[in-house]
Amino acid sequence: MSTSAQSPAGPAAPARPGDTVTDRLVEANVRYAADFEDPGMDAKPVLRVAVVACMDARLDLHDALGLALGDCHTIRNAGGVVTDDVIRSLTISQRALGTRSVILIHHTNCGLESITEEFRQELEVEVGQRPVWAVEAYKDADQDVRQSMQRVRTSPFLLHTDDIRGFVFDVTTGLLREILPAS
Ligand SMILES: [Zn+2]
Repeated sequence: MSTSAQSPAGPAAPARPGDTVTDRLVEANVRYAADFEDPGMDAKPVLRVAVVACMDARLDLHDALGLALGDCHTIRNAGGVVTDDVIRSLTISQRALGTRSVILIHHTNCGLESITEEFRQELEVEVGQRPVWAVEAYKDADQDVRQSMQRVRTSPFLLHTDDIRGFVFDVTTGLLREILPAS
């Protein structure tokens, strides 16, 4: 690999007016790949842990948890809610890829706190059909983390439910606060 900053495809062009955000990201990828070395890992997470978290842009899971490439599975959606599809991913994570622990992370100031299940009715009025999915809006992050822990713990599909912990991430301090499961 060349030691110069130039990639084999030539230097990444600076963003130009009219470039879309995706164009900028693809250009960044060219720079990333220029220095990338095959880590030689298989697909099984080194720490045997899956993290389920909100998609929020202020939550950098790898930095916040001291994770490195290859350490964990990250499963993210709006709210970090445990939906059927999250159970699907956790089931594959545990049964096919060897993870054992689950960490659930909600956060302060989540967008889901500002909408309600009315969102589904509003969509139906606007587009003529109601989504099959629940919005999973919530007002109390602590309670929603408890519910999420319970959904993982009681899933019949998972092999390992003895190490499930839940947290709320404070977007202003960067700190996790642990939520104890409902007794
Ligand atoms: Zn959120």
